[in-house]
Amino acid sequence: MRGTVLYGPRDVRIDERPDPSIVDPTDAVIRIGSFAASDNTCPHCRAGYQTSCTQRQWVVGAQAPFLRVPLADGTLVATPAPPTANQVPDFLAVSDVLGTGWFAADAANVKPGATVVVVGDGAVGLLGVLSAKQMGAERLIAISRHEARQKLARESGRRTSSPNVAMKAWRVSRS
Ligand SMILES: [Zn+2]
Repeated sequence: MRGTVLYGPRDVRIDERPDPSIVDPTDAVIRIGSFAASDNTCPHCRAGYQTSCTQRQWVVGAQAPFLRVPLADGTLVATPAPPTANQVPDFLAVSDVLGTGWFAADAANVKPGATVVVVGDGAVGLLGVLSAKQMGAERLIAISRHEARQKLARESGRRTSSPNVAMKAWRVSRS
């Protein structure tokens, strides 16, 4: 199969790679992957910090059609049925950038009524805005470099919010 290989800064190539296979009984081979595997049973995992799992294993080759995932029981979440082609992009967003944005808001201890500043307007930052909003933040401040994303951050902050939520997005320029 073909997969992305990072050789160094600004040197990313698509190479032929061996197909992944089951190596350990706790492995799975999947079509879409993440970058870290966890057992979901150690004290760090049970506290919600799966990235600090005592059994953590880095997953290599994640930007390829198929991927070997160690510790599959703790890392993967089964869906009731195989996702449809239309669901795959949503699952990608939910399993990657939304999870990261939600984790950031949770780690920042966002509570109802909080004022939250999100630094960065990429997908994770924008979903951090939505996550903080969902957790009850009442003042959201997004620090942004791009006018289009600034607009999206404003809309994201308002879309699911109660009318008394204040949403501001500032644009900062690179100096
Ligand atoms: Zn763990």
